[in-house]
Amino acid sequence: MDEFEIIRRFFTPKKTHNRVIVGVGDDSAILRPKPGHDIVTAVDTLVAGVHFPRSMAAEDIGFRAVAVSASDIAAMGAQPRWMTAAVSVEEDSAGMLEGIANGIGLASDRYGIDLVGGDTTHGCEIVVSVQVTGEAKRGTAITRSGARKGDTIYVSGYPGDASAGLAILERSRLGGCVWDRNDHLIRRFANPDARIRLGRRLSGFASAAIDISDGLFADLGKLLDASGVGGVLDVDRIPLSSEILETMDQSDALQFALTGGDDYELCFTSNAEAVVKIGKQLGVPVTKIGKVTNGSGLVCRKEGEAFEFDHSGYVHF
Ligand code: ADP
Ligand code: MG
Repeated sequence: MDEFEIIRRFFTPKKTHNRVIVGVGDDSAILRPKPGHDIVTAVDTLVAGVHFPRSMAAEDIGFRAVAVSASDIAAMGAQPRWMTAAVSVEEDSAGMLEGIANGIGLASDRYGIDLVGGDTTHGCEIVVSVQVTGEAKRGTAITRSGARKGDTIYVSGYPGDASAGLAILERSRLGGCVWDRNDHLIRRFANPDARIRLGRRLSGFASAAIDISDGLFADLGKLLDASGVGGVLDVDRIPLSSEILETMDQSDALQFALTGGDDYELCFTSNAEAVVKIGKQLGVPVTKIGKVTNGSGLVCRKEGEAFEFDHSGYVHF
């Protein structure tokens, strides 16, 4: 199958939803934003062996690539609409391309994001780069820099699950056994859920937001720095999933939650209690985990005392 046949068969959506004037097949796509909206755009690249284990299923690679980029749009309180995908695989791997395309297609359906173009090449490693473009009503997008002293810090979902899943994947690879795609923690790594609906609803309520790709502690630190404020994180408030607590003890789970990345949950600040209710309406847990303070830097506290932990991200379990 040549490249054009591959694009036609795997990467050409049957229909599109979001005002696509010209999609896959021309030199560029033509998209029509809604009047009175800002364009919000982000790109993320996943490299085999760096961002995901080489043993990951092709479908999961495609899905994950879309989810992580869509998550950046969600963190801005915007609605993702369109994407382009640059896919590089080793020579003679049409099966891999088909799998990646299927995963991209699944994410496209799940999030309502139209695939409108891309690039298909051969290289010496699997690399998938997805650029997602979204829309937000003019002036309503949420940035990292709006947190103010006295705001409450919140997190969605159960941080730590995805990185614990990745650790299980790596351990099973070292042990030579096949990993279980149905394991909850592994699924959280392979198919993270971009919090698009939550992000949109937070617009007008959240003063600042970031999605967690590098770990709660690091990413919350970036938000506070960008806002020119400090913060206190009550580690005993961090919600830990029943699945992670079934797999390891609480202190290891907490270590994953603080330093493990890949969750793609939202961490945000707000002075409106309503955000917890918004989470409930959407079926996404939203938990209060700390406070924004004057000054700079993020301090962790446990039962009122300073809490020290291993910042290297290494977990022994
Ligand atoms: P060009 O040489 O003009 O860049 P290509 O031959 O690379 O065009 O691609 C032909 C068409 O197929 C373009 O519209 C391009 O956006 C689309 N395309 C190529 N690869 C992908 C892909 N992986 N996903 C979606 N669209 C793709
Ligand atoms: Mg061209």
